[in-house]
Amino acid sequence: MLEIRELTKSYEQNLAVDQVSFTVEDGTIGILLGPNGAGKSTVIKSIAGLLKYKGEVRIDGFPARSMQAKRIFGYVPELPALFQTLSVEEHLEYIRRAYQIEVTQQEIDDLLRRLELDDKRGKMGSELSKGMMQKVSICCALLIRPRVLLLDEPMVGLDPKAIKELKEIVLELKNQGATILISTHMLEMVEELWDTVYVMEKGKILAVYRRDQVGDQNLDELFFSVTEREEKDNQEEETS
Ligand code: ADP
Repeated sequence: MLEIRELTKSYEQNLAVDQVSFTVEDGTIGILLGPNGAGKSTVIKSIAGLLKYKGEVRIDGFPARSMQAKRIFGYVPELPALFQTLSVEEHLEYIRRAYQIEVTQQEIDDLLRRLELDDKRGKMGSELSKGMMQKVSICCALLIRPRVLLLDEPMVGLDPKAIKELKEIVLELKNQGATILISTHMLEMVEELWDTVYVMEKGKILAVYRRDQVGDQNLDELFFSVTEREEKDNQEEETS
């Protein structure tokens, strides 16, 4: 479970995230949906402990900065950052040792095969394309068997096969009871995945939709009805 309470983050004068609170339950996929600049990445980076922020974040009940929390959450950043001089396989070995996880060679091979990296295992970080780096980053996050997985715009830069595979992996994790939070500005990428959608704009959550409550309503229509309503309210405020 992922609990965010009153998360606020400013970059100097710019208020990027304004008192955001939400909870993603075990065995569900939450989607932070909003246009560029809405604050999605800032929320994810704050949860991952990369930014200083005000508010509280709990991962499976543990404070986000605690060792217990760090052991159980995986994070795939929007822009993958790999070691230039480690090979694909060495990245996985690094994670295996850092997290002291028991993982068989068979499991590593399966993961590399699923993301079509098996023939790239000897390639150095510096030799990989953006998409390949993204896939290595995904493999590293999955290797720790995360209870909570954060994916920041994960589909950007991936080829169709990798997108399909990633969606299947995310659904498998969900079925195993993990909590998943995905940020995206592309509605169509998450249509089959979402349980709860948090519509974000200008640093705030404008609406929350649960699939079991809104049924088969089109996510596109819901999203635009909220963001257009907000725009209209703002215009009325400006003219009054
Ligand atoms: P999203 O992920 O929804 O595109 P971000 O969280 O990246 O949004 O950005 C939210 C706001 O914070 C934007 O106004 C953006 O310009 C600003 N911002 C993001 N990162 C920084 C940074 N490192 N320094 C200053 N402003 C930033």
